[in-house]
Amino acid sequence: MQPIIEVKDVYHQYGDTEALCGVSLGIYPGEFLAIVGANGSGKSTLARHLNGLLLPSSGEVKVKGFSTQDADDVWQIRSIVGMVFQNPDNQLVATTVEEDVAFGPENLGVPSKEIRKRVDEALKWVNMYEHRQRSPHQLSGGQKQRVAIAGILAMHPEVLVLDEPTAMLDPVGRQEVLEAITYLNKELKMAVVLITHHMDEVVLADRVVAMEKGKIAQISTPRELFSQSELVERLGLDVPQVFALSNLLQDYGIKIDVAFNPIELVNALCKLS
Ligand code: ADP
Ligand code: MG
Repeated sequence: MQPIIEVKDVYHQYGDTEALCGVSLGIYPGEFLAIVGANGSGKSTLARHLNGLLLPSSGEVKVKGFSTQDADDVWQIRSIVGMVFQNPDNQLVATTVEEDVAFGPENLGVPSKEIRKRVDEALKWVNMYEHRQRSPHQLSGGQKQRVAIAGILAMHPEVLVLDEPTAMLDPVGRQEVLEAITYLNKELKMAVVLITHHMDEVVLADRVVAMEKGKIAQISTPRELFSQSELVERLGLDVPQVFALSNLLQDYGIKIDVAFNPIELVNALCKLS
């Protein structure tokens, strides 16, 4: 399978700071890719290269064959790769939810009848359709973030990049946003790139990129990553709570299988009796 996005030996400097040092990565149709790493390891810088918000100091990023360095292709690239940020307040601009979601496709010059269809559809995908006539200011953090995601979806991207989209949300909002992301990936087969500090979110991914000081330390499954306790510690990462609990039970001499999510833990516990 051809990758949608190809990151080829990318370096990025901010003045004297080398934020990315030779990063290469392919992002494939329909996959769920997580990116983890300590603060300052280069995750946001990498994310911003995926749709040309930042350009490499050297190396190249290609989106369906278009180079992000080619200024003529930037709108094409931004319609293929949509980006969602941490703070939903900075991403909402209009006075009603539906106007906000219409903003992106309007800018792409989509005909108005088609916009109406896309707005309704996108709001349904993130479970915000019933709130379409409200003001974004009246919404909770999780609702705002789902409207921001709908605004990107209305542009019909093939890849959704989310840079710590749940970092500012309460647990309920976080759960709502995760459900929306999971739906988009599993049901609509959209490729998702999720940057997160929550290891319980990482276990949802097919692959996880572990960043360290501007380089990729490892690309693996979440399972492979969390099984390497020395690497996890060196990278300054947590482990999923369920995984920590199953390990603790093992330390106490209970012969339980390691578990990475609640269902696996329940199954492992049931097997004991
Ligand atoms: P992360 O998202 O993993 O926390 P970033 O990509 O934000 O990492 O940052 C990587 C490095 O680049 C850090 O050393 C950070 O201080 C630096 N950096 C990020 N943005 C800027 C900027 N706009 N100007 C200067 N340095 C920056
Ligand atoms: Mg960041």
